[in-house]
Amino acid sequence: MAQWYKISCNSCGYSNELITGSSVTAESLKDLNEDSADFKIFECKNDHELFTIDVHGNDFDNKCPVCGSDIEEVSVEKIDGHACPKCDNRTLKIEPVVHI
Ligand SMILES: [Zn+2]
Ligand SMILES: [Zn+2]
Repeated sequence: MAQWYKISCNSCGYSNELITGSSVTAESLKDLNEDSADFKIFECKNDHELFTIDVHGNDFDNKCPVCGSDIEEVSVEKIDGHACPKCDNRTLKIEPVVHI
């Protein structure tokens, strides 16, 4: 199941929504095909922007979509207290978003 998260920074007001997880159901996982999406959170090593990429997507090449630098996967648990992409303070917060 895919899950949306909201990340926000107490210091500068930065906020962003990220999706993680897979769009496929447990049943279709057994029969994994290239059409299934699997979203993971990445951090750009250059500008520290956080974003989600579908790692099964055709255009996934392990590079930042903005500046082309190398990126590194970040787990949801590590985003709490992570350095903010905008102000660099370690004041990022992450919370699940419930879409009704
Ligand atoms: Zn970048
Ligand atoms: Zn900030």
